[in-house]
Amino acid sequence: MNEVRAIPMPGPGADRVAVHGAGLAGLTCALLAARDGFTVTLVGTPSAPVPDLVLNEATIAVLTRVWDDPEERLLDGGHQLTGRSVRWGRDAAPVQVPASAVVVDGQRLVDALEQRLPTAVRRAEVAPAADWTVRAAVRPAGNPPVGRRVLLAGHAPMPSTAVSRMATTGRGWVGVVPVGNGRGLVQAMTPVPPDDPAGFLAEEIEAAGLGGFVTEPPPQVTVMPAAPWLSRQRAEPGRLHIGGAVLRLDPVSGSGAGHALRTAILAAAVIRGIRDGHPAADLLGHYHRRLGAAFHDHLTGCAVHYRAAFDSPEWTGELHITATALTGQAAQLHTRRAGPVFTGRRDVAAMT
Ligand SMILES: Cc1cc2nc3c(=O)[nH]c(=O)nc-3n(C[C@H](O)[C@H](O)[C@H](O)COP(=O)(O)OP(=O)(O)OC[C@H]3O[C@@H](n4cnc5c(N)ncnc54)[C@H](O)[C@@H]3O)c2cc1C
Repeated sequence: MNEVRAIPMPGPGADRVAVHGAGLAGLTCALLAARDGFTVTLVGTPSAPVPDLVLNEATIAVLTRVWDDPEERLLDGGHQLTGRSVRWGRDAAPVQVPASAVVVDGQRLVDALEQRLPTAVRRAEVAPAADWTVRAAVRPAGNPPVGRRVLLAGHAPMPSTAVSRMATTGRGWVGVVPVGNGRGLVQAMTPVPPDDPAGFLAEEIEAAGLGGFVTEPPPQVTVMPAAPWLSRQRAEPGRLHIGGAVLRLDPVSGSGAGHALRTAILAAAVIRGIRDGHPAADLLGHYHRRLGAAFHDHLTGCAVHYRAAFDSPEWTGELHITATALTGQAAQLHTRRAGPVFTGRRDVAAMT
């Protein structure tokens, strides 16, 4: 008997929730569970600052509605964007797209959310006994991501305009986002981690034709894994995984924060539903499959966009890995897979 089978399914009335990880997802799930009358404990200490985040309209709508913030005070101090310029693919011309978004200091936002939590939410360094554990602390991927690509990111001086820009080169894409106060965020996606990230990013800014929008290239550049990833572990008896701890989107989507919020909302609804007597296996199965379906859509979008823009051997490799993951997922959709929780159910579980 494996570990998952040994965990008892919390039944109706189980009302203790421990949330590990106080980022956007963990705080949102803690808020909703507390509103639903659960005894909620936030576990652990934040270990890394949240970066600047570009919040699109859909994400802002979810955030402000869930946190009951109709005046959007949570976005105070943010930099308003009104449009995007996108040049995608060899020989393409730039396209201007109206796109309302706000760039916020992610850490400031998370701090503001934490201050808005009901006082009934407890804090603890060590996990208390709980009926439900919600894992919202981002950790190294336990199963492989769908690809090897990395994101290079750094801040640079640039004019505080209201337009973000994105353009492709032969090696990947480059994004330039003003964040206000004469600064901006520069990002580049590439399938091969470069030896000299700062030099590579400076070259890519020029190759993308974006040199005129950046006063000087970022002096300090961070390199991070950026291929999409979905955890095989999503919903188990007594345990749900949310946010970046379960799903990572390719940054090209621009909606990672929105998805993190949605997983938190869905997880809180699942826990409430089971407490209120709805069939636990059905709700956990729904959570598992819903995330699988969202990931499938995301991978499909990545394949379409990247196929249209890149044909280098390295990008062909990324596309091959993506296609293999999509094929595997489709096969699972048509296979009845036995599992410790969802025996006999169709699902879209593992991507790899
Ligand atoms: C560089 C970068 C740029 C991004 N830009 C955008 C963007 O512009 N727009 C957008 O929509 N999305 C963006 N995203 C994605 C977005 O940041 C995430 O999807 C979202 O913040 C995930 O929220 P989360 O709460 O799941 O995770 P996180 O915000 O990472 O929060 C996890 C929390 O858990 C804590 N933690 C970690 N380990 C432990 C532990 N052992 N115990 C307790 N706590 C722990 C962490 O310190 C953190 O507080 C970006 C991501 C990155 C990495």
